[in-house]
Amino acid sequence: MQRSIIFLITIILVQLLGGCSHERELNEADFRFDGPLGSEGAEIEKIETNLFRVRLSHAPNQPEWNNKLQFEITQNARGNDLVLIVEGPPRYAMNEYFYSWSYDMENWNPVHWNAGFRISPELDTLVFPVFEEDRVYVGHQVPISYEQIEEFISSIEPSRYVNVDTLGKSLGGRNLYRITITDHDSNIPPVNRWAHYYSNSHPGEHNAQWRMIGKIEWLLSDEGSDFRSRSINHFVMMMSPDAPAKGWYRVNAQGVDMNRSYSPDGADKDDQAHEPYIFQRDLENLMESDSPPNTVWGHHTWGGIVEPLLYYVQDERLGPWTEWRDILLEMDTDNLIKPLARRESRPGYGATSWEAGPHEQFGITTILCEGAGAIYTKEENKESGRLLIRSLADYYKGTRQ
Ligand SMILES: [Zn+2]
Repeated sequence: MQRSIIFLITIILVQLLGGCSHERELNEADFRFDGPLGSEGAEIEKIETNLFRVRLSHAPNQPEWNNKLQFEITQNARGNDLVLIVEGPPRYAMNEYFYSWSYDMENWNPVHWNAGFRISPELDTLVFPVFEEDRVYVGHQVPISYEQIEEFISSIEPSRYVNVDTLGKSLGGRNLYRITITDHDSNIPPVNRWAHYYSNSHPGEHNAQWRMIGKIEWLLSDEGSDFRSRSINHFVMMMSPDAPAKGWYRVNAQGVDMNRSYSPDGADKDDQAHEPYIFQRDLENLMESDSPPNTVWGHHTWGGIVEPLLYYVQDERLGPWTEWRDILLEMDTDNLIKPLARRESRPGYGATSWEAGPHEQFGITTILCEGAGAIYTKEENKESGRLLIRSLADYYKGTRQ
């Protein structure tokens, strides 16, 4: 008995002393690439103290598409800085966006590539500061895992304005959600409410997901009460929920580019990838309902600030699209969003995208909501979403009828 107590005290002492020491070096075994933010197939090799080389693997069936660099340092980070030399598969930039690191997966700090994708798309270096805690998370843009999306959904689900539909399972067995927000107590019948559908097809474009969370939070706030009473809003937060744990940027488990997965001739189980078929079938059901969506949004990221591009159809109940542009311009005092512009005349991705596709299939206004690669914080990404939905609320005045 006495011996086991002494043994226990010794263990605790060793742990306490170890916890205070800054002497411990990071080793390969301290890095984990298979957590909620992961990078399938990544390999790490220690070169010298606090200098490691990481070789990224690639997406399923896409040998040139690198998985994003996402990992967890599970222990021993405190007191160490870190330099990573990162190598991706050839001919595809692995470093076009910033990354973020965190001690808790909530408060994220941006970290930027030394060279950048224009200079060195396949090999680049990330330099992290001296860490103050032992556990560190690193992910793409301002990251969010599938599990955190689920936590977010659980946090809003008790609201009487929120309905959550589970439409099916991903190939990896994760839930495929659609969130609906409207005020059921409103005296405006559903058939007279405007309806909008917001999606994210590229799973690694996390800034786009924070933009959508900003929209949802505004809708559920006091400020959103008027719009909530006269509109129905559908959100698909992540069409490829298997991706964050693998570091897949654009694809699902079949390696299909999620924004080349739309079937403008109609959902087709045999021809479409697994998750896109389920979501498109669901969207088609919504379009056949009494309150079909008036707009369909696809949320993405590319360089610069947020850049919403319209596939526009003039609705006779509304003013011209320039009115919407001017509303948004006036609201955006922090310059987070480029002036609304039309997409139609520019070369597009074709109707297999979740923007051109629904535009062609249903003849409605759709929005390719791009950009935000240069927005480095969760709060600013959410703010851009709040601005977009506030402008939508002002432009889509009154009710559908
Ligand atoms: Zn995208």
